[in-house]
Amino acid sequence: MATGTLTIDLNAVAENWRALDRLTGSGTETGAVVKADGYGLGSGRVARTLAKAGARKFFVAVVEEGAAVRQALGEGPEIFIFSGHMAGDTDMISDLGLVPMINSVDQLTRHFEALPGHPFGIQLDSGMNRLGMEPGEWAAVAELVMAQGPAMVISHLACADEPGHPMNGFQLEAFRKMTEGLDCPLSLSATGGCLLDPGYHFDITRPGIGLYGGQPFDTASKPVQLSLPIVQLRELVPGEAVGYGNTWIADGPATIATVSAGYADGLIRAMGNQGQLYADDTPCPIVGRVSMDLITIDVSALSHVPSHLDILGPHQGVDDLAATAGTIGYEILTSLGQRYNRRYIG
Ligand SMILES: *Cc1c(COP(=O)(O)O)cnc(C)c1O
Repeated sequence: MATGTLTIDLNAVAENWRALDRLTGSGTETGAVVKADGYGLGSGRVARTLAKAGARKFFVAVVEEGAAVRQALGEGPEIFIFSGHMAGDTDMISDLGLVPMINSVDQLTRHFEALPGHPFGIQLDSGMNRLGMEPGEWAAVAELVMAQGPAMVISHLACADEPGHPMNGFQLEAFRKMTEGLDCPLSLSATGGCLLDPGYHFDITRPGIGLYGGQPFDTASKPVQLSLPIVQLRELVPGEAVGYGNTWIADGPATIATVSAGYADGLIRAMGNQGQLYADDTPCPIVGRVSMDLITIDVSALSHVPSHLDILGPHQGVDDLAATAGTIGYEILTSLGQRYNRRYIG
């Protein structure tokens, strides 16, 4: 079999959720963000695991993702939609009991007209300028909204992965001002905010990346291993080139392993001549460009060449790999392709 094996340890995901839950006080409920198919790991499997661990509030980006999570979880857990109530969403919101986070007066009007009495939340913009009602807009409708009893009022931090960033305090203050005296659950923090002081935790947290082993949750368990089979070995003499564009030339005798996976599997071209794979504990550099389905690796240093090389695992997490390619762990995870043979533990 020439497909790579993506092993996803659901026990590690549950362990990360419990660890993030312990970081915040007993008055704070820990939700779970499972958008983008559970950051690429499978939203149904991840959501079921976390529901078993005790999570009752799940967050996704769009209603279609909410539908998949509802199917996996059945009735009971709450599923919140960050993009709110868009035209065309009404039937799914209603039939599947999804809770839109209303982002604007337009969405508010749509929701109240289409589904009077159906639960909703509110997303406020505390300074990120991306989603949510701005202070003036909110002030105009707050009284009307509060009379309907929103399920929660949330905002999102732009710089929470940098604890010392002045934007954190600025947004905290803005969120406090906009929610002063409100009688409903409040939520400000994603993974980064869970690691800030308790003033940021409010009633509900919304960790995503930390569940999946990514920064800024440094002490997270790493749930992902990606092992790629070597399809062919090639002995090079000095001066021979590897791959498209001849970007790597052997300066001595070299053994090149060609593994089966490439940029079509989310192993992006920026890893060419940059990243490394592991033969057990030994790092082996990627040489030449990454192709659509293949990557070439210099394994000359190995006394024994194994059948597979690991690109994600205990020695190299998603953030390590991301760093070699000038991106972030989030992008590596959510780009993981559909061709891998997926194995779930737990
Ligand atoms: C994606 C997202 C989260 C989760 O963020 P992480 O950094 O992955 O923990 C929480 N809240 C909102 C509004 C989001 O868009």
